[in-house]
Amino acid sequence: MRTTAAVVNGPGQDFVLEDVELEGPRADEVLVRIVATGLCHTDVTMASMLPAEMYPNVFGHEGAGVVEAVGPDVTGIEVGDHVVLSFRSCRRCDRCRAGEVGYCDSSLLLNYMGMRMDGSTAYSRESGPVFSNFFGQSSFSRHAIAYADNCVVVDQELDLTRVAPYGCGFQTGAGTVLNVLQPGPGDSLVVWGVGAVGLAAIAAAATTGTGTVVAVDLMDSRLEQAAALGAVVVNPSALAAEEGAPSVVDRVKELTGGGATYAIDTTAVPAVVKQAQQALGIRGVLVVLGLGAEEYQLDAIDMLQNGKVVKGSIEGDSDPQEMVPRLIAMNAAGELPVDDWIRTYPFEEIGTAVADLHDGKVVKAVLVW
Ligand SMILES: [Zn+2]
Ligand SMILES: [Zn+2]
Repeated sequence: MRTTAAVVNGPGQDFVLEDVELEGPRADEVLVRIVATGLCHTDVTMASMLPAEMYPNVFGHEGAGVVEAVGPDVTGIEVGDHVVLSFRSCRRCDRCRAGEVGYCDSSLLLNYMGMRMDGSTAYSRESGPVFSNFFGQSSFSRHAIAYADNCVVVDQELDLTRVAPYGCGFQTGAGTVLNVLQPGPGDSLVVWGVGAVGLAAIAAAATTGTGTVVAVDLMDSRLEQAAALGAVVVNPSALAAEEGAPSVVDRVKELTGGGATYAIDTTAVPAVVKQAQQALGIRGVLVVLGLGAEEYQLDAIDMLQNGKVVKGSIEGDSDPQEMVPRLIAMNAAGELPVDDWIRTYPFEEIGTAVADLHDGKVVKAVLVW
């Protein structure tokens, strides 16, 4: 069938709406009419860092929409179902069976190679194939091919423009708190960078009764959102301009009674990651979530002497089939105020959405057909 997708034709180039041919659904596939897709930093980063031979490419991995057709081998999903799309996992390997679906043995092939396992692509145009299957969806498109393992069926009453980002950004932030760190009343948590992922982490921390939560960001507009969730805020640039003020590391240590129990970095800025490590308390744990840097430098003596842990997490160690419904319930209980964070843009304005995300004018841009 013909459909319209936002195609990136080369590394770092703009997203351009183009007519493409969509092939499928095959036996194990689900055809979804996309209603809305969240814009995640990962889309923008991947659209500039993939090797030149992986273009043209369609990104988009926070899709939500309505099922239009299902292949004969698909179970549990029916035509007309409303679905939130997330990342893929095989659901059969040892990691998947242990519930660690983000670390599936086939994760790379299923999510990042730009094609199906057999090398075919779901999209094409006259001049040839268009890379697809990004996170098993490539949902910057009016129609997308997804799979039973990455479709989460949701209540038809829900506004799909609000729940689309549950499939990646919000799940990553909330999952890092609820699954990975599990902070309690005696703990402190510092979130470095409070965009969509960081705010979701802070919202989740409030539900576990976390003692002190500190938000660090350069943008006051984002810090205001964090403060509304109960976080103490630190703006390093304001601090630097203050006469006689402590360093950001010392300020965070003050606020956390000598150093944080837990920290999350969403910035992927090497200097920030190092500060986040230094501001941990003894045996503190830092989880790095950002994509963008190739290497981090850590303070080795501080790490040894104080038994600190720096670790990564993909999607907050979440299983979307469990986490997406949990986020929906949190939102219904008033614990995840996504309306304050989301701004919708028509798909035609995807360039504006990318610019606004980059400039910090929007926490979570959601593209809508
Ligand atoms: Zn697996
Ligand atoms: Zn993402």
